[in-house]
Amino acid sequence: MAKLRKKDIEHFYRNYKLIGKAEKRIHAFTGTLSCRFCGKSSPEVIFKNDAHLVPELMGKNDFLYSEECDSCNSLFSKYESHLAIYLRPYLTMLGVKGKKKVPFFQSRSAADHTNGRTIITTGANNQKNIVLGSLDDYKIDHEKKVATFTFRNPPYIPLNVYKAFVKIGLSLLPNEKVAKYQNLCHWISDRPHGRLDYFPITIKTMMTESQFVEPRVELSESSRTIKENGFIPNLTLHLCFGNLIFQVYLPLAKRFNYHRLIVKKPIYILSHHIFQGIGDKETSRVVKAVQLGKSEPVQRDEQINFSFTSGDFNIGESQTSNPAK
Ligand SMILES: [Zn+2]
Repeated sequence: MAKLRKKDIEHFYRNYKLIGKAEKRIHAFTGTLSCRFCGKSSPEVIFKNDAHLVPELMGKNDFLYSEECDSCNSLFSKYESHLAIYLRPYLTMLGVKGKKKVPFFQSRSAADHTNGRTIITTGANNQKNIVLGSLDDYKIDHEKKVATFTFRNPPYIPLNVYKAFVKIGLSLLPNEKVAKYQNLCHWISDRPHGRLDYFPITIKTMMTESQFVEPRVELSESSRTIKENGFIPNLTLHLCFGNLIFQVYLPLAKRFNYHRLIVKKPIYILSHHIFQGIGDKETSRVVKAVQLGKSEPVQRDEQINFSFTSGDFNIGESQTSNPAK
């Protein structure tokens, strides 16, 4: 990863403008409701469920949303279940409380059953109780004071994780922009959408020394998309929760004429959120690009490093003080 520079923050602001962010709903919504995804209105479709703009698995929140009908809502919860598997190692280890409690992590069992499942639960004061299914799941470097966990995730579909992200972004679109991005709304709700160009990449940043108190979600739109050396995706979404920042590039609007571009290369401009606190703390974040394009289930392992001094994580202690019974 190239060195992060302060001028990159300005670079983001020069190219993108904030157009939507998650806010708490103050008033109950009355009148005719219509769904921005399938385009149907009440009473043809029902709006009984509370649709969350930010999935509660990212932390309990009141960011509710009234333009999502119950049938779209149930389709989107399918995407969210893949997102939940993808995020689970982080949510468990960080102790991000969802609707009720911190989710537990359970690894998949190996096909040949040589390894058992590793199970991680959370006790009082966010202390982790870890039952290792395989000793390969964790390595400890006493000198550097770093523990590395390998989370053997159960299978999930990366493209559904991407769709869960895209859906959050579309919920943040101001009403007057919905028509421009209608092809995205139709794609996400499994309806005919015509041509759709997308870049299923997400930039994942993990901070090691700070955490967000509550989830923060923002959608930005680029003003000038075509450049000499490529093009800038129309919309980009930031999701900040726990100690994570995800930046996602949404598919292109239909009117964006991809075919006529001379250089068909997306230019990914990194979010200012990634750079915040830049300077001394520069080393305290890990930035990684993750591909989410596969539409088949994958079994991907997630490796996360924990330093002994940060947080309340101490595997040595939990192992010796709780001998296997
Ligand atoms: Zn709908």
